[in-house]
Amino acid sequence: MIQKMALDGLDRLGEKVIEGFQLSDDDLRALLSLESEEELEKLNYAARKVRNYYFGNRVFLNCFIYFSTYCKNQCAFCYYNCKNEINRYRLTKEEIKETCKALKGTGFHMIDLTMGEDPYYYEDPDRFVELVQLVKEELGLPIMISPGVMDKATLLKARKKGANFFALYQETYDIELYGKLRIGQSFNGRVNARLLLRSRDTA
Ligand code: SF4
Repeated sequence: MIQKMALDGLDRLGEKVIEGFQLSDDDLRALLSLESEEELEKLNYAARKVRNYYFGNRVFLNCFIYFSTYCKNQCAFCYYNCKNEINRYRLTKEEIKETCKALKGTGFHMIDLTMGEDPYYYEDPDRFVELVQLVKEELGLPIMISPGVMDKATLLKARKKGANFFALYQETYDIELYGKLRIGQSFNGRVNARLLLRSRDTA
């Protein structure tokens, strides 16, 4: 169906999506297969229309504070893979406070608190929750946390202390490929951690 739209209806795709048209997997495949300049330009036009509808024509600045590059995992694609012998750092509370001070008034809209799955924080997850609280108190901005697969209680505490969003990247839904990329990590554990925070009983 989208194949036809690609030829005659791509101009209206943005409006249709805004009106509630659900793209199927086949539709998405067809869109990803477009090659002609003209079709790609139409696709860009449709994408801009949907973006403007939801976000307007504004730019939001997201600032990463990558506060620890230690990690217990060995993801095949990652520089911070624990098998790599590289220089690593873990910011102290004072350094994080200083970073926040430097960020004050710089115009960022959101802070992304990111780390590898650092055993220091996984052994005592309240350390992580304290950091969330510290950054919230210092900057008062929305916070996204990207701490890896942490336990439910910790994530809920982090939310209470000021975390607004949770990022947990999923490079693939192909379980076999996942096993090769995120070596030794549970596929279901990762998916469930995200579903958990979306479920009503945690709202
Ligand atoms: S969990 Fe994150 S930081 Fe650790 S190896 Fe994997 S991608 Fe890298």
